This record gives sequence, structure tokens and C-alpha cells, in this order.
Amino acid sequence: MSDAETLTKAAVLILLGPPGAGKGTQARMLEEDFGLVQLSTGDLLRAAVAAGTEAGKRAKAVMEAGGLVSDDIVLAILKDRMAQPDVARGIILDGFPRTAGQAAALDALLAEAGQRVTAAISLEVDDEAMVGRVSGRYTCGTCGEGYHDEFKKPAVAGTCDKCGGTAFKRRADDNAETVRERLKAYHDQTAPLIAYYDKLGVLERIDAMGPIAQIRTGLGAIVNRVSA
Ligand SMILES: [Zn+2]
Repeated sequence: MSDAETLTKAAVLILLGPPGAGKGTQARMLEEDFGLVQLSTGDLLRAAVAAGTEAGKRAKAVMEAGGLVSDDIVLAILKDRMAQPDVARGIILDGFPRTAGQAAALDALLAEAGQRVTAAISLEVDDEAMVGRVSGRYTCGTCGEGYHDEFKKPAVAGTCDKCGGTAFKRRADDNAETVRERLKAYHDQTAPLIAYYDKLGVLERIDAMGPIAQIRTGLGAIVNRVSA
């Protein structure tokens, strides 16, 4: 795709968004559109442990002891990973940094390589609309087809459009209260990070309540602009 050609230097993107905002979907689209590679903390750790790198061995020891892998180990693993040729166009970080302290440590690491965060993109949601979206979900107990109390009801009430099944399931953690708690936890955790990147002048906000294709276009415009 021609979009990829417009990136003159490796992009370092940080995607921020609460559960249900479509972060995973949009990250995959950015991979497709720009040749970027999404790096999630979990995947990074697993790969480093499997590869038996120095940092991977340290991570493995900590995890086997039931501990939390420290920031410096995560950063060492990230540094190794960023030296590999498949990420030459840039990366999308997912799950790291989570705190302003980690963000500062990441900046120091990037500075060593003459790089910096290109953009921290916040997928902005309307909390109450999200509660409605997520908490109304249910699925067919037979074929797994997804439905929604408001947005996607079966044509015949109580009967699955796809398989005719009449048993439906709801996930216990999809109720309104749980969704509100998840959103609050996200905002509490992310607010310092948002403030950090805002101060650096690299914060971008995008409305994540619209159709997926529209968000994709908006994200693409941001990436083109910040990488130019
Ligand atoms: Zn069904």
C-alpha cells in the first residue's frame, strides 16, 4: 500500500484505549496499512523466554518465582526486539507503558537509539454508550452467534437467526456495573500517562465510537501526519 511509503522514519506508536474500544482491531489495521508491527508485553516476554535471550532468562526466573517482571527487564526485551529487521517501519506498543514512570524509561531507551515516541493515540470512548454496548451483549448457546439487546435482536424473539436455537448465554462480566468499573479503572490508570504524553506534545485523540472503517481512516491520517 502506498501509505507505507509515506513513513520516512520508523514510527513508535502507543495505542491507548479501554477494553471494548477496538484497540486490537485498529492495531491490526495499522499493521496492514503501514507495515507496522504490534508488540504486546505478553508476546514480547513469551518470545524472549522462548528464544532464551539474556533478558528472556531473567524474565523467566522472575516469572517462575511468581513475581512481576520489572520494567528494566521489559525494556531490555523491547530493546532487543526493536533491533530486529521486521520492525524497521515501526512499532505499535500495546500494554506498555502503563505508568508515567514507564513512559519516561521508554523515552530514555528510545533516545539512546535517536528515536522518540511518534504519537500516543488515545481511542476516546463515551463511557455510558460503551456500557450500553457491552452490557447488552449475549450469544446463542448453540452456534455462538452474537446478539445485542438494543442493536442486534434476533428476527424472531428468543430464536437464533442462524441456527434456530432457543438457548442464549450472557457473560457474567458483561453486566453494566462491571463495565463501568472496568472503564473507571482504565481512566484512573491511564490519566497520568495521557497527561505525560500531552505535555510532550505527542498526544493524539481519536473518537473511537464510530464505525471501524472511519476510525481506521482517522488513525491513518494521524499516522501520516505525525510521521511526515
Ligand atoms: Zn444459533
